[in-house]
Amino acid sequence: PPSHLDTGALIIGAGPAGLFQAFQLGLLEIPCRIVDALPHAGGQCVELYGHKPIYDIPGTPVTTGAGLAESLLAQIAPFQVPMHLGEQVATLQREQPGEADSYWLATTSAGTRFRAKAVVIAAGVGAFVPKRLSVEGAEAREGRSLFYHPSDLSRFAGQSVVVHGGEDAAVEAALGLVGMAREVTLLHRRDVFRADDMLLAALRQRIDAGDIHIAVGQPSAFDGRSLTIDTPDGETRALPLDALVVCQGISPRLGPIADWGLELERKQIPVDTQRFQTREAGLYAVGDINTYPGKRKLIVSAFHEATLAAWAVAERVFDGKVPPLQYTTTSTRLRELLGAA
Ligand code: FAD
Repeated sequence: PPSHLDTGALIIGAGPAGLFQAFQLGLLEIPCRIVDALPHAGGQCVELYGHKPIYDIPGTPVTTGAGLAESLLAQIAPFQVPMHLGEQVATLQREQPGEADSYWLATTSAGTRFRAKAVVIAAGVGAFVPKRLSVEGAEAREGRSLFYHPSDLSRFAGQSVVVHGGEDAAVEAALGLVGMAREVTLLHRRDVFRADDMLLAALRQRIDAGDIHIAVGQPSAFDGRSLTIDTPDGETRALPLDALVVCQGISPRLGPIADWGLELERKQIPVDTQRFQTREAGLYAVGDINTYPGKRKLIVSAFHEATLAAWAVAERVFDGKVPPLQYTTTSTRLRELLGAA
């Protein structure tokens, strides 16, 4: 039978809420694992405003979204939390249905399975997933001749590649393919690209040099070898290719969470404000995904919620024997855990 990765608490989401959750669980000596659909930690902070300044993190007058993620990762480094990145948690259910004491079982899109006494949903506004191409036959070709926001372009060496998209990521991918792919075509629904000035200047150069071809139109069919597009002047054109790279942006989708049978209020999970527990025993929700009277979607709220949720998880994992509160300043044990002893 396929085996599970056993852990004390499974954290769904590596945004600021999930990362600080891991820190608080670490202080309470509860082992945990984190899963995120993105290939990197940081959630919205990295994905939506990585380079923008942020001013309301306690004790940090100014940092950036990416800087905050880096600090949170440095803070949990002593606990060596296993991170399962680029995997979306697809299913979540109790090992013994209906039993409040039961373990939770979760599986990811990549087939990883987890078993944990407690699960903390820190899923923000949903899993950050690439916008999919909505033409028939696309799904079956994913990973074979169709790729979304690939991080490694070397697999396209010597191939004829069509890049679909009109913003930074698409322009960057097209530029990155020059000199590696046999042929590069950048396809967008209109003849205007919205990207960083430097990227646009480089693109113009490559177009003039004949290294990148431009195609304008809307995809209407894909058979793995050729992409059919409808052009603005009402014509149909076929673009033969070896690979189609779609970079139409990455946006958050609640996705599978909506199918876990949880009560949702306007796409958020109601919790109590003592344990940050959902209506299901052993299932907690922190950060942007939860709701309660007075909820404010701020990072500082997520930090507080994660702190109290960690104590609730401790109560469950240690069968009611909650450890006493200790200060990181003075506790020898905590300093030892943090590698500062
Ligand atoms: P997120 O940051 O959304 O992280 C959730 C993570 O969970 C994501 O990485 C997602 O991929 C993952 N996930 C979801 N579902 C799954 C699944 N099924 N499987 C695997 N992974 C999953 N807040 C402030 O306090 N101060 C500010 O100045 C501020 N500025 C902001 C500026 C902008 C432009 C935006 C958009 C937000 C800003 N916020 C600010 C809000 C702040 O970013 C959020 O409150 C915070 O990111 C919430 O953290 P989180 O960890 O709950 O969720």
